[in-house]
Amino acid sequence: MSRKYVKIEGPYVESVPLVYKHKIPIQKTEQFWRGLAEGKIYATRCKKCGAVYFPPQADCPVDMSSEMEWVELPREGVLEAFTKVYARPQGFDDLEPYVIGIATLSNGVRVMGWVEPPDERCIKVGDAVEVGTKSVKDKYIIVLKLKKSCT
Ligand SMILES: [Zn+2]
Repeated sequence: MSRKYVKIEGPYVESVPLVYKHKIPIQKTEQFWRGLAEGKIYATRCKKCGAVYFPPQADCPVDMSSEMEWVELPREGVLEAFTKVYARPQGFDDLEPYVIGIATLSNGVRVMGWVEPPDERCIKVGDAVEVGTKSVKDKYIIVLKLKKSCT
């Protein structure tokens, strides 16, 4: 199959940017939000090829399958990176500075969350973390709790 390109001869004007929007049915993400409220983190797994997606996806980009199932992610992870957030986003600006980190879970999936306790002198890359959730300002966030103690 060959692609056809349209060659533009002479002067031209830029078109307005094309924006592609589509509606994501709430039922396709509901399990994820309900899971956070229960302290669980859900990903989606393609029933066809077994690929696990986090954040959850409704369709598998590998084989275009929409046959996805929910799987709970493992709780154990290793901290890969972290940073302290001083410039908090609007709505979080009255909170103490917090630490955001990325952990790789035992199944290889990466999740981002708030590292606790937020003591950047204690936190080290490679630290073991337990993944959970907590409620901050009526929103559920993912928490990466250090398994070692910081005193
Ligand atoms: Zn797939």
